[in-house]
Amino acid sequence: MEKQIYFDHAATTPLCKEALEKMLPYFTEVYGNANSQHAFGREAVKAVDDARDTIAKIIGAKPNEVYFTSGGTEADNWALRGILKANEKKGKHFIISPIEHAAMLSTAKDLQKEGYVCDFMKVDADGFVDLEHLKTIIRKDTVLVGCMLANNEVGTIEPIKEIAKIAHENGAYCFTDAVQALGVLDIDVKELGVDLMSMSSHKIYGPKGIGALYVKNGVKITNLVFGGHQERTKRGGTTNVPATVGFAEALRIANEEREQNFKYVSSLRDRFIKRVLAEVPFVKLNGPSDLTKRLPANADFSFRFIEGESILFSLDLAGIAVSSGSACSSGSLEPSHVLLSLGLPEGLAHGSIRFTFGKHNTMEEVDYAVEEIKKAVERLRKMSPLFKEVQGEVKNV
Ligand code: PLP
Repeated sequence: MEKQIYFDHAATTPLCKEALEKMLPYFTEVYGNANSQHAFGREAVKAVDDARDTIAKIIGAKPNEVYFTSGGTEADNWALRGILKANEKKGKHFIISPIEHAAMLSTAKDLQKEGYVCDFMKVDADGFVDLEHLKTIIRKDTVLVGCMLANNEVGTIEPIKEIAKIAHENGAYCFTDAVQALGVLDIDVKELGVDLMSMSSHKIYGPKGIGALYVKNGVKITNLVFGGHQERTKRGGTTNVPATVGFAEALRIANEEREQNFKYVSSLRDRFIKRVLAEVPFVKLNGPSDLTKRLPANADFSFRFIEGESILFSLDLAGIAVSSGSACSSGSLEPSHVLLSLGLPEGLAHGSIRFTFGKHNTMEEVDYAVEEIKKAVERLRKMSPLFKEVQGEVKNV
């Protein structure tokens, strides 16, 4: 098959033509610094303001509650560090889930070195946070409860509304990382009740290197990036005007096509899951088996007796791009922290592959991938001494 098949949309997506076309004039013709006071600057700042308005409207926020960042990672870092630093009078305690993105977990680790105290909410075998456990660990000095809206690896959609309620009842702020959910789920920050929310553009067919943090008016947060007066003095650095324009356009389109894409992408995913479970022995679907409770594009499997990387490379040779664990941790041979938190034994966590579908994928590609998986798994298991020992066990563990 000559065509390359891309099943890694949770890692990133291709830039859509509409966003590219909207961005182009801002590279060459409208090149002013959005902070300049002359006509060039005014034209640039108008584009940034329009982009901010579009994004704010779609997430149910006010424009002055949306701050552009360099992406989801910066937004996560800023939310966590900024809230804790600004609210030290209340305390130094915060709570997050153990299945957060590395951007959150690494920031939490760094903060712990500085004397902040982090507790983790328990998650169940499908990746849902345990609300009752949250109620037992939240304290008077808890400043923030943070949880992703949907998990990037296994697709679990978390009960953020309930988490926000518990946080607020205990006088804490609620943060959500909506990087994987933006443009896919119907997100309204007021409805969710969150105080802060991270967003990223490149997961929704927008440009890379741009994202945003929603900060509810009145919420105290310190700067992460110090500099000039950009972003109402909250985030220094010359604004990447074309990127803000592209991000807003990509989100506008994602929002417009949301229901249609949700239906289409989940139909690909559902067929894929059904076929893999029926046709590949010794395979486990990670994340919710109730498919309505996971992101529509996500299918994550552990293939017993095989390393995820071996399947990844076999599929790559067949022209199919997938991810083992999360893209950010590829290159590391550590088993996925998400799967370990879900209680998977190390062996199964090592044999995991994430397939994430997109609006340009087809059913033919799904069927081709299933055939290639079957071939790869059979070939790799023939080489596995462990597999030979246990042949005859029950299927679909
Ligand atoms: N949060 C989640 C849940 C993600 O999936 C990602 C990217 O993989 C990020 C944050 C980081 O976003 P960005 O790539 O824009 O820095």
